[in-house]
Amino acid sequence: MEMFDAAKISLDFPILSTMVYGKPLIYFDNAATTQIPQIVMDTVTNHYKTQNANVHRGIHYLSKKSTMCMEHARVLMQKFVHAESPEQIVFTSGTTESVHMIAQSYVRYLLEEDDQIIVSEFEHHSNLVVWQQLCMEKRAKLIVIPEKNGTLDMDCFISSISKKTKFVSMTMVSNVTGVQLPVKLIVQYAHEAGAAICIDGAQSVRHGVDVCRLGCDFFCFSGHKMMGPAGTGVLYIARKLLDTMRPVRFGGGMVETVYSDRTTFAPMPYRLEAGTPNYPGIIGLGAAAEYLMNLGMEEISEYEKALTVELEHMLNSVEGVTVLGKGQEKYSVVSVVMKGIHPYDAASFLDKYGIAVRSGSHCAQLIVRKYGVDSVLRFSPAFYNNFHEINTIQEKLQEIIGFFQK
Ligand code: PMP
Repeated sequence: MEMFDAAKISLDFPILSTMVYGKPLIYFDNAATTQIPQIVMDTVTNHYKTQNANVHRGIHYLSKKSTMCMEHARVLMQKFVHAESPEQIVFTSGTTESVHMIAQSYVRYLLEEDDQIIVSEFEHHSNLVVWQQLCMEKRAKLIVIPEKNGTLDMDCFISSISKKTKFVSMTMVSNVTGVQLPVKLIVQYAHEAGAAICIDGAQSVRHGVDVCRLGCDFFCFSGHKMMGPAGTGVLYIARKLLDTMRPVRFGGGMVETVYSDRTTFAPMPYRLEAGTPNYPGIIGLGAAAEYLMNLGMEEISEYEKALTVELEHMLNSVEGVTVLGKGQEKYSVVSVVMKGIHPYDAASFLDKYGIAVRSGSHCAQLIVRKYGVDSVLRFSPAFYNNFHEINTIQEKLQEIIGFFQK
């Protein structure tokens, strides 16, 4: 196999040549947002330049062209996650909106008093608070399955799931520890109990996902975490549930016939896409998916795996640094705590050297608290990063430690 040429590929990303305080940018905050290749920017700009018109509205040349481009993006996203057909792809503004849509369009209608929803301690707030609030409203119970030995406590999950469980929603990869939960098994148990299941794919989608093989009912992700534009996202829905989805927002594009006293709604996926969508962004998202597929999802994964292993190895070797979920396989995220140094101070220090990392609770306070802290320092590489950057980070971490020991 040809070597993955990260140096060459990094040239596709103009922002990576930015100088930060006179130092070359080292961008290790990809779990928060990935950078965008030139081709995605060009696709969006060209759309505005040559094809801009509202979609699904007009019969004029530009409107038809614009609609075709957006629907082509839907097909690309279908291909990207291996869905069976384009109508299973609903465009949203991101993972957060996708999760909300499931709650308001589907779960709200099946949840009754004393029913249960199951999530995990690893959840990002956007896949936790929405279920917590819905349970409060419906007098249902939210069960949060704890972390155990770096992964999900499967015994607890198996003993908690029952006929009362109407819905399960879990992240595939933790945005704090980078660890992947045993989602395939979780899907099987959910279905055996008769519950539908959503997988939060925000952190996993750019590593390659096959929703059919996974067998989940819903899969949510954001464009800005897979080299696409911000403000775009996808909600994948299993075929068997498409007809059960009820409209959430009302407006243009999602109706069939409107009378003063009643309305009939458009088929899926349009029923859930009220109003003018962010079609330039969506078209850019399609271009991002195409870009990744052209690079090769397996090649990307292999290279990122090697980078992440090296990153964890380096972090483990620095005195006073503790890796969260040590020894567990990680997907482009490694978080640490440093003895006597607050993550905020470490991140500020690294920033002065042009190194972009993130400190804080990462919108996942439950899991951060489980590790006995309120903040962690997160390093998150992507395929345009390289091993030399990991060496530079190591040097700078040593400097920080020296500085704080003075
Ligand atoms: N879930 C996970 C696991 C995430 O990492 C994120 C983003 N940090 C989200 C959900 C929310 O994504 P967005 O803000 O793009 O809606």
